[in-house]
Amino acid sequence: MRDREATGVQAFDEGGNPHAGAILTVDLDAIAANYRLLSRRLGTAECAAVLKADAYGLGAARVAPVLSAADCRTFFVAHLDEGIALRRHVPREAAVWILHGAPRGAEAECLAHGLVPVINTPGQLARWAALARARACKLPGLLQVDSGMSRFGLSPAELAAVADRAGEHDAVDWRLVMSHLACADAPDSDANPAQRTRFEDARRRLPPMPASLAASSGIFLGADYHYDVARPGAALFGVAPVAGRPNPLKPVVKLEARVLQVRDVPAGTAVGYGYTARTATASRLATVAIGYADGFLRSASGRGAAWAGGVALPILGRVSMDSIVVDASALPAGALAEDDAVEIIGPHRSLDAVAADAGTIGYEVLTGLGDRFDRRYLHGADATADPT
Ligand SMILES: *Cc1c(COP(=O)(O)O)cnc(C)c1O
Repeated sequence: MRDREATGVQAFDEGGNPHAGAILTVDLDAIAANYRLLSRRLGTAECAAVLKADAYGLGAARVAPVLSAADCRTFFVAHLDEGIALRRHVPREAAVWILHGAPRGAEAECLAHGLVPVINTPGQLARWAALARARACKLPGLLQVDSGMSRFGLSPAELAAVADRAGEHDAVDWRLVMSHLACADAPDSDANPAQRTRFEDARRRLPPMPASLAASSGIFLGADYHYDVARPGAALFGVAPVAGRPNPLKPVVKLEARVLQVRDVPAGTAVGYGYTARTATASRLATVAIGYADGFLRSASGRGAAWAGGVALPILGRVSMDSIVVDASALPAGALAEDDAVEIIGPHRSLDAVAADAGTIGYEVLTGLGDRFDRRYLHGADATADPT
């Protein structure tokens, strides 16, 4: 018998789905706490929430009600269909804004679902204005201008041309003008003030209306970047907003995987596809049920570590589709066994650290999380009043 107290190694918790290879725990209370922290930082500016890609892979149906209960009243998604789905999970009076705008021909559907498009192109404006004329009323809309990222929104020339077509822009009840920062996670980058200046130039061409420039990282650039509405996504889910600085946000995601097999091997033993790793000394190896099909990226091969009993278990060799092999030699003999749990993301290994091991960012790890997990949601530790 192993002494659990002594090793700190935990058994894999089969309470939810006894067949699962890994457990993804999403702390909804931490999301609410992060929303409140960002709101406080923003002072009088409104804190919206970006829930595109199913709330960055964490489940918009679970996340949206918790943010609503924390007094979030404005939600952004990327696609019209994401907005249609989100409508069912937010109060009727909440605003749901579509970053990509309405697809061509879907303008009436967008309107029918009470969704407001971001107008990114002259064509989108013309079609939204045409629908407004057909309905003999003004329709709500947001305007995006490009302030340097060359991705979404009207260019300065397109904006100037639109400003001359009063019939079109007068057909829209403009709720917001917005733009997006390319380098906000680098606070010292010259790109930030340059984009802000271009955003100001665009605003001067427009009638007065609320403005929005900051996403998660932009909130930490200071009040000059807050305007009327900020649009955080990643920070709600615990991703560090500023590279290389302490993360003020609460971690949201915990990922634990099951040990499938443990073996003792001599020095010089090859491990995994391609024999890219060999043990330097006699070692204890553990095969763990997480792989690139679960979103644990293959680029993390031979990098980073899982954790158990407060000890790092380095990843040896390539990440396979459904498994990794870790070196468990640092644990006392017999401490780790089949059906024990190892931490993949958690208190010892942050989401951002795991992303860095794979050569990517927390955003990509979150949105890539697979659907084979036993997904669990923590809620109620500091529950806020339910609004409905
Ligand atoms: C994704 C996105 C956001 C949210 O960005 P985060 O960095 O996750 O906070 C805000 N605005 C736009 C236009 C986006 O595309």
